[in-house]
Amino acid sequence: MSAVTLTVHRSTQEIGGNCIELAAQGHRLILDVGRPLDAPSDATGLIPATLDLTAPDTSVLISHPHQDHYGLLEETPATWPVYSGAATERLIRLTAAIFGKRVERTFTHWTPGEATSIGPFRVVPWLTDHSAFDAHMLQIEVAGRRILYSGDFRRHGRKATLVQRMMNQPPEGIDVLLMEGTNLGTNKPSRTEAALEVEFIELFRTTPGRVFVAWSAQNVDRTVTLYRAALQTGRTLVVDLYTAEVMRALSDFGRLPQPDWSRIKVVVTSSLARMYRRRGDDAFVDQMVGNGISARKLAQDCAKWVIMVRPSLARDYGRAGVTPTPEDAWSYSQWSGYLKAADGQALQAWFDDGGARACHIHTSGHASPADLRAFASAVSPKALVPIHGVAWDDDQEGFPPIVRVRDGEPLAL
Ligand SMILES: [Zn+2]
Ligand SMILES: [Zn+2]
Repeated sequence: MSAVTLTVHRSTQEIGGNCIELAAQGHRLILDVGRPLDAPSDATGLIPATLDLTAPDTSVLISHPHQDHYGLLEETPATWPVYSGAATERLIRLTAAIFGKRVERTFTHWTPGEATSIGPFRVVPWLTDHSAFDAHMLQIEVAGRRILYSGDFRRHGRKATLVQRMMNQPPEGIDVLLMEGTNLGTNKPSRTEAALEVEFIELFRTTPGRVFVAWSAQNVDRTVTLYRAALQTGRTLVVDLYTAEVMRALSDFGRLPQPDWSRIKVVVTSSLARMYRRRGDDAFVDQMVGNGISARKLAQDCAKWVIMVRPSLARDYGRAGVTPTPEDAWSYSQWSGYLKAADGQALQAWFDDGGARACHIHTSGHASPADLRAFASAVSPKALVPIHGVAWDDDQEGFPPIVRVRDGEPLAL
């Protein structure tokens, strides 16, 4: 048997659900244990059948806090140690609490750029640019082999310089690059967050009433973009309790917008406030009421507001007498696929019925096909093992030598 074996248990043929094993000298690393994106949220038993759950000396490494990378963590044996960035653990716990759950695992935190030894493996995590906060690439050395796992990444967000720096000075002698290819075969927009900021400024300036924006609270790059655009147009960004909680949770990890900053207001809706109070977070709700605003107030001074919206918030707003008008605009600033679901359609109808102008401004959380090629060429691995994509079989031009594996098929390195 070879000194190092790579097995991609899942994600060679799909976007997400990553589960990748590196085995050497009787030890194993599992890079991400993601929930498949198409799995129902209550489905269990999703661990790939080829992953041996009885093997000792196994550690799990979580590249970033997206469900398609950590969603099956609790289905792995409790004896397996878990490694991640510090902010990643915080966001994973925060997300679990929203669903009334607790994560019964202890995490060991790595420091970006610093090597961590796990059994015979030497792991260097590199902070990277992605729509998730605290996303990492992982450089792994074992038995004379060198592997780079891209996790999810892009080269057009607010941390793009991190990717550029790695491309300028790539780790030497990479044998295998495990790289995502989400956007292969698409022409999804990959404009920069800075370009989006300019578009939002234009939208805020040209809208006489309120601007409603739907975005993911954990897409911190987008929160920063919207806050900056609000500041430059004299508007106030209105976020919900959950986004305020995310902002607070990340205050230790950089100078990021906080709920008590000027030109930010927290809208305290009854359903979310009830949820936090039910789980005993009265102090948090009371504090937020301090910088807060009731939904009813959003019916006045309309030209002042940039208002977070999502299907459940729209229902709360409607109950408080806040409904869209032809003076208002709305922007769906996340993956447009969610709009096709039933509650997305209801949101769309809410704005259409009110006559609000639609102006959807978004950019992908993943690298464009051109950036995937540029990154892979810069790293220049002996072999590229494709993952996290659906077009790898049709679109291989311009990449380093590709070694295509199937889910669960071991590859000797
Ligand atoms: Zn992913
Ligand atoms: Zn991701």
